Amino acid sequence: MEHPLAFVDSELQDLRSKGLWRWPRLLEGAQSAVARYDGRDLINLASNNYLGLANHPALKAAALEAIATTGVGSGAVRTIAGNMAIHQELEAELAAFKHTEAALLFQSGFTANAGTVAALLGREDVVVSDELNHASIIDGCRLSGADKKVFPHGNVGAARHMLAECRGARRVLLITDGVFSMDGDIAPLRGLVEAAEEFGAIMMVDDAHASGVLGRHGRGTVDHFDLHGRVHIQVGTLSKAFAGLGGYVAGSRNLVDLLMHRARPLLFSTSHPPSVAASALAGVRLVQQNPELISRLWENAWYFKEGLRVSGFDIGTSETPITPVIVGDELRALQLSDRLFEEGVFAVGIVYPTVPRGRARVRTIVTAEHTREHLDRALEAFVRAARAVGVA
Ligand SMILES: *Cc1c(COP(=O)(O)O)cnc(C)c1O
Repeated sequence: MEHPLAFVDSELQDLRSKGLWRWPRLLEGAQSAVARYDGRDLINLASNNYLGLANHPALKAAALEAIATTGVGSGAVRTIAGNMAIHQELEAELAAFKHTEAALLFQSGFTANAGTVAALLGREDVVVSDELNHASIIDGCRLSGADKKVFPHGNVGAARHMLAECRGARRVLLITDGVFSMDGDIAPLRGLVEAAEEFGAIMMVDDAHASGVLGRHGRGTVDHFDLHGRVHIQVGTLSKAFAGLGGYVAGSRNLVDLLMHRARPLLFSTSHPPSVAASALAGVRLVQQNPELISRLWENAWYFKEGLRVSGFDIGTSETPITPVIVGDELRALQLSDRLFEEGVFAVGIVYPTVPRGRARVRTIVTAEHTREHLDRALEAFVRAARAVGVA
């Protein structure tokens, strides 16, 4: 009889034969603008450490202090015995940061999205969702059992049309990423909010890549478009600009109170170690007190984008520090990334299923920590590597 896992071997063989098998490169030492991967010091354009906080002394000190005073683990799920003072302190800070009544911590941005959508919707309901929304939103929709209507990326007209078709549904959720993680474009949030209001839909935005990046003090897309009070549910992450781990929902007090009783990741998975919450809290405070971090991030982003554009690269519709270099062919995208590595630059090839087939790319993210010299060297490396592998 065939081994029950024989399909694993053949699927792997398939990846290998197509040249698509990769083990992630090994990071030694801290996440930083120049970091050591697979034994080489590289200009790092691959991390979400937008503000360079991953190794920041203030965040490290906060984590150590929390360990010294409250230990390394919460010991239980939030709703049983694992609700710690530092969790609530962080939530109060996040609510103030987002200008909402309340906020609720999740273990990750992924569980915040999936857990929230699944808690609020059921089979009688409909989700109207951008086609490029994050996998955690898609999984939340699946878990909820709600009917799903997917509109073409960023197309407010199509979203309105779908909302108009939902009149029989019990609840309707209109949901979008704020900043799209593989293209770096910003959702047309104002148009979507107006559509949601017209049809009485719940409006939810996943600001994982916008929090700490976009809007005043990095408050996200709701602030960027001045839509305070008009988006019912904002999701953010503590894992990107805030450089730690965790997600959160910001919204009304009642929304948070209900999610505490219904969101399955909170009911069935252990809460944050206090050190993780404490470093996130220090990060959120630091970003608000040091606006130059975000200005530096954006100066670097515009500089690098312009450099790529001038060199003739296809950077799609990016308007944030996430800049894809779109190659199309999957193998070629991976080869470009490999060649960049040889040139001393770390930027990862992104292929199906993370992006649609035929839209493979090398994704770059500059951070506040990069210097002009890093960026110039990276731009030169892109030109050389692209020539070597026959891109652009
Ligand atoms: C990264 C990301 C998430 C998941 O956040 P984690 O905190 O890493 O789980 C959710 N949504 C979007 C749009 C993301 O880019």
